[in-house]
Amino acid sequence: MSMCAGSGWALTAPVVLTTLICSGVLLLTRWVKQQRYFPGRESFILLHAASLWWMLAAALEMAAQAAECKVFWASMAWPGILSVPAFWSIFLWQYVNSVRQPLPLRHTLGLAVVPLLVWLVALSNPWHGWFYGAGTAALSAQPGSPVQYQHGPLFYAAAVYLYLFMAFSLGVVIHAAAFSRGVHRRHYLAFVVLTAVPWAANIGYIGFGWTVFGFDPTPFSFAFTLVAFAWLIVGVRLFDLLPVARHLLLDALLDPVLVVDPQMRVIEANPEALKLAGLSKAWQGRKLGDWPVFGRDLRGVMRRQDSAGQDQLLSLASSQRYFEVRIRVIEREARHGTIVLGHMLYLRDVTQRHLGELELAEALAISEDRLRTISSLHEQLQEQALRDPLTGLYNRRYLDEFFSRELSRAQRERTSVALALIDLDHFKQLNDEYGHLAGDDVLKGVAQHLLDNLRASDAVFRIGGEEFLLILPGVDLAEARKRLESICLGLAASPLPTRSGERTVTLSAGLALWPEQGHALDELLHAADVALYEAKRAGRNRVQVCAQA
Ligand code: GH3
Ligand code: MG
Ligand code: MG
Repeated sequence: MSMCAGSGWALTAPVVLTTLICSGVLLLTRWVKQQRYFPGRESFILLHAASLWWMLAAALEMAAQAAECKVFWASMAWPGILSVPAFWSIFLWQYVNSVRQPLPLRHTLGLAVVPLLVWLVALSNPWHGWFYGAGTAALSAQPGSPVQYQHGPLFYAAAVYLYLFMAFSLGVVIHAAAFSRGVHRRHYLAFVVLTAVPWAANIGYIGFGWTVFGFDPTPFSFAFTLVAFAWLIVGVRLFDLLPVARHLLLDALLDPVLVVDPQMRVIEANPEALKLAGLSKAWQGRKLGDWPVFGRDLRGVMRRQDSAGQDQLLSLASSQRYFEVRIRVIEREARHGTIVLGHMLYLRDVTQRHLGELELAEALAISEDRLRTISSLHEQLQEQALRDPLTGLYNRRYLDEFFSRELSRAQRERTSVALALIDLDHFKQLNDEYGHLAGDDVLKGVAQHLLDNLRASDAVFRIGGEEFLLILPGVDLAEARKRLESICLGLAASPLPTRSGERTVTLSAGLALWPEQGHALDELLHAADVALYEAKRAGRNRVQVCAQA
């Protein structure tokens, strides 16, 4: 400050202009601070703070009258000069890549190291002269005359640091402009211009000695960036619309949405997705498979999707929730086909619907099972109703149905049907001698004997206590008689096993033939009964044909 002790101050036009630009930048910074969030906001504010520092120092340099005082303020400007391109490139990188987290504090502090060092070097220049050379002096002897700087090696080292950041910034925005289209491309092209103008001014100053009012033109080029920003922000309104609209959309969605890059790192997740995972910080860039709650399952769904291509179900057993996952490829047209940039995963909560479907399917399975049980029981009942429980033979209930069927077949085929009424001989006596249970065993044995002697088309019924009816379709009387006699002889010759030893029983049979002895079942049964009576009377253990034939 001692350098300025004897210096006078003059409020010249360039000083007023620079002060006006400073106020403009100040207003802009204030306005940005009040704005809604946009990527790189913090870096953007720091960038303006740095440029404000630079221009205030420049204004003081211009206002100072003594040359040493001017050099002092020129040295004071350096922290600002070097921080502007650093934060400018960080801001562009964050904005173009939609990085929402502010730069961590230690990185911000790291970026301040070189500017502070250069500041010290510039301030200590009178002792070493490596920053501004010995030839640094006022252009003329007039008070307030601009200083002509002779640049030393450390000055150029600082310039290289500055240009590295500027080159990086240009690279970022040119890349963004090259790979976008339409309104986005124009937006990014404006960024290219905004980045190039102050840099061009600075190169002109250092390389070719361009000056404005005899001063470094770079701070004045900020007047241009100020106007350009005002146009971009107020005029085009892209600044707040473009990135904010996208995030608003994601934030407003009630369903979880994630964006993963080709390495399966999550680079975007909306609040619903974070809520589902129970994450609040340090999630950006984490592998999808490592995400809590749904990471592994969702990764599995993505693998299956590669082959299926349809929406898939993601079930979270831990929380009993179900999501339909819609996966969309994010790709970019390139010269040699398309490049996959990543995937967007849209999770639609279908828990209610899915649980409903499960319940419905379960209810359906139960009722189908019941139906099966009912119909099988029904069949069993029907079968039981037609059968005699002791012998398993058909009972009288089935006789009408069977006979009418056989009758129509016989009419169709013009054949006859034989009926044989069978009654066991002296069965009462057997019961009395060996007991009712032994009688039952004999009845079973007789039933089996009859069944053993049947043909496929024949049928046997138990129509009374120890009375049976045989129906033999398609046989004439002679054949029917032959077969009945064989059955009769066979029974008499084969003792039947009972629980109280083997018993031999004989039968008597009366034969009647359709249509000769009657047309209806009753008539035929009556005829057969008459014949049976004859057989009994004739001494039993025989077959008698109806006499009316
Ligand atoms: P017949 O030679 O004249 O026919 O003499 P029978 O003793 O067989 O006389 P009948 O036909 O009148 O007697 C039938 C007997 O059959 C009467 C009854 O004790 C017996 N019976 C009827 N149903 C059953 C049955 O389900 N089980 C047993 N064990 N006996 C029965
Ligand atoms: Mg009887
Ligand atoms: Mg009998």
